[in-house]
Amino acid sequence: MLPSIEALLVLQDRDRRLRTLAEDLAKIPKDEARAKDRLAGDTESVRKAKEAVMANEVEIKKVEMDIGTRRTTIQRLKTQQFETRKNDEFQALGHEITRYEKDVDGLETKELELMEKADGLRATLQQAEAALAHTQKLVNEDLANLADRKKRIETETVEVQAGREALAAAAPSSMLPLYERLLKTKNGLAVVPVTGGKCTGCHMKLVASTLVKVNSGVEGTQCESCGRLVYSGD
Ligand SMILES: [Zn+2]
Repeated sequence: MLPSIEALLVLQDRDRRLRTLAEDLAKIPKDEARAKDRLAGDTESVRKAKEAVMANEVEIKKVEMDIGTRRTTIQRLKTQQFETRKNDEFQALGHEITRYEKDVDGLETKELELMEKADGLRATLQQAEAALAHTQKLVNEDLANLADRKKRIETETVEVQAGREALAAAAPSSMLPLYERLLKTKNGLAVVPVTGGKCTGCHMKLVASTLVKVNSGVEGTQCESCGRLVYSGD
């Protein structure tokens, strides 16, 4: 094999590693977002549970206020009843008082029910908060792992990059610009072997004259279909 091809293949190997590292690094933000997404369901459950607790509290307050107004009314009616001298008015007021007292009884029963409901709602909220805390712990672990992975990739990138400079210096400088261009446009494969008369980069058959150049090891031979630098792989 031509020394120039050998040097470029070693360089290409490094460059492909750098590409893989860059791709892995680019995936990390998506993985982080996916990890955080796992919190959405639990966060929503906590929000709903809190909302239910609050709505129930509002309802309890409303019932308490209703009881309060009725008690005030009962007090007023009792005063009127005390002050009246008419028997029929006394009786009418008595009926009204009884009606309001029944109302108060009903409202007090309702208040007790709501308070029992509040216990259940608070328990549900606690469960939802515990579930969220558990998920948060798992997500934090995932995020810590991702941060570790990111650091490892960055460290390796620096190392590979450092080694790459020396390898690039060892490669034939006249072929480097072509190599670099091909690496970018040909998906990280600038130098490929020819096997069975075909370029393994684009899988097209090479014309006879090119094949002759490949087999006799002419410097800088390119596939006429894809432009990649080719060497004999048979
Ligand atoms: Zn080709």
